[in-house]
Amino acid sequence: MNRPPSASPRRVLIVGGVAGGASCAARLRRLDESVEIAVFDRGPYVSFANCGLPYYVGNVIADERALLVASRQTFRERFNIDVFTDTEVTAIDREARTINVRAAHGHVQRTERYDALVLSPGAAPIRPPLPGIDLPGVFAVRSIPDSRRIRSWIVDRRAQTAVVVGGGFIGLEMVENLIHRELSVTVLEKLPQVMPPLDAEMAAPLMDHLTASGVRLHLGDGLARIDQRDDGGLMVVAESGARLPADLVILAIGVRPETELATQAGLRIGPRGGIVVDAEMRSSDPNIWAVGDVVEVPDVLTGQETVLPLAGPANRQGRIAAQSIAGRPAHFRGVQATAVVGVLGLTIASTGASEKGLRRAGVTGFERVYLHPGHHAGYYPGAQPIHLKLMFSVPDGRILGAQAVGREGVEKRIDVIATAIQFNGTVHDLADAELCYAPQFGAAKDPVNLAGMLAENVLSGDMPLADWLELDHTQAVLLDVREPDEFAAGHVPRTVNLPLSQLRARHVELPRDREIWICCGVGQRAYYATRFLAQHGYRARNLSGGYATYQALKTAGRVA
Ligand code: FAD
Repeated sequence: MNRPPSASPRRVLIVGGVAGGASCAARLRRLDESVEIAVFDRGPYVSFANCGLPYYVGNVIADERALLVASRQTFRERFNIDVFTDTEVTAIDREARTINVRAAHGHVQRTERYDALVLSPGAAPIRPPLPGIDLPGVFAVRSIPDSRRIRSWIVDRRAQTAVVVGGGFIGLEMVENLIHRELSVTVLEKLPQVMPPLDAEMAAPLMDHLTASGVRLHLGDGLARIDQRDDGGLMVVAESGARLPADLVILAIGVRPETELATQAGLRIGPRGGIVVDAEMRSSDPNIWAVGDVVEVPDVLTGQETVLPLAGPANRQGRIAAQSIAGRPAHFRGVQATAVVGVLGLTIASTGASEKGLRRAGVTGFERVYLHPGHHAGYYPGAQPIHLKLMFSVPDGRILGAQAVGREGVEKRIDVIATAIQFNGTVHDLADAELCYAPQFGAAKDPVNLAGMLAENVLSGDMPLADWLELDHTQAVLLDVREPDEFAAGHVPRTVNLPLSQLRARHVELPRDREIWICCGVGQRAYYATRFLAQHGYRARNLSGGYATYQALKTAGRVA
């Protein structure tokens, strides 16, 4: 950073003292004892666990103090960092290198000088200007006081019904916790699926699970307004005119970067609405850094700028800004959207690009495989399926993204694939990965290995894929190689049943002049059948993921 001509100590001021701001402050002190560091937060706390807020509402975390990771006193005593809570930063004067600060509920302003300024103000919940949006009983979840108000409302009003508007991460975590509080919950979501970052068919098992858990899903319909009912409750009115009664409403329709200060100061804002920063997290002003939910960063897979409001990137960016301010090498590699959410016993995790994200970004030349292995060896009791989808580029096999849903072991697999992506890994690396195995934890061929092997089979031509999305139009023979009782329990329309166990004896019944698209339960027997038929001169293709994937695609409306 530029040193002022005076001999006074360098001053680093930080706006926002939670994920990005607090990690920046603490790292900077570890790197440099000589700087003065002050953190300003307009809220009553710094360094609190916003990710824990839904669980505080659900009383899973019963004691509010558990959410406080570090106090003002800790910062002062342990790190010699001044923390000013309930203190809002209202303006930046870039010329004078000062900020204006004001006690949150007061009028008196004071000016603070900086040599380096770090902005980590986060992102604000979106509150569309719709009638009734500010009625009592309509909440967003961002702070400890927000959560406290929701808890009180549930108790004081003896709330029994809730509508959660928005079926993304925070919305679904709130669903889980409101169910813990024994409320009856409806999700109102504008898209036809929950968890918008997932491909629709990967959200299907989650939607089935929510419905089976008693959550009502009102999908493909937006919020129009919220009315006050005569009995004191609320009525959520959807764009379709549907009316959803509620004792409380949670707004979880996304967040927007808090760029007011940056905009007023003339810092560059990018097309996604976040502050533009370089790899050192430096903004368009060389004396101002920005980190966390407020910035735009490159997506390492698509190369496009994105905003990714997650705690991991915010913490790492805070650390990188500190390195940069301290004059050390610093480089943020970009994001790949690795995320996980748990909902009523189900885990949903993803990393890298989704199929729809790739298509949106205009990426072509990729393939996808589906698989549904157990989370550990099938012979050990309690194996739970993991529904896994892997996207990779063709022909080099570079891993582009993965999504997984299941009850156990889901995030472990996604974390392995996320790490492989970080090292520019290919599907061959997944096939070769040496991972933990004992019967209660995994399998000698772990789901990660299997995903890599399947993808390798596609790349080598050993397992040509048929496209599920072409199912309705194809002239191919659709062949189901499961046993007749399995076939009778449910199958893809127009398929003929010839079990794998009879295929060697009866394959001559199949035509040689048409493609044969092969399906089974989860894809494994279809793969064996594909290999057998291909080696006997048939034009065989595999419908990846089998009937389990078909059902998910059907629930998602991607096949008829
Ligand atoms: P924040 O942590 O939001 O901190 C910004 C702070 O700046 C706030 O305290 C704000 O009051 C203060 N501020 C803003 N403007 C000013 C100003 N002008 N003056 C002074 N102070 C100001 N991420 C995950 O990865 N996993 C999760 O499970 C997860 N769960 C979440 C659950 C909830 C309910 C929420 C709200 C978020 C969750 N997140 C999760 C997201 C994660 O918390 C954020 O990505 C992360 O906190 C962003 O860090 P930040 O420093 O950019 O902003």
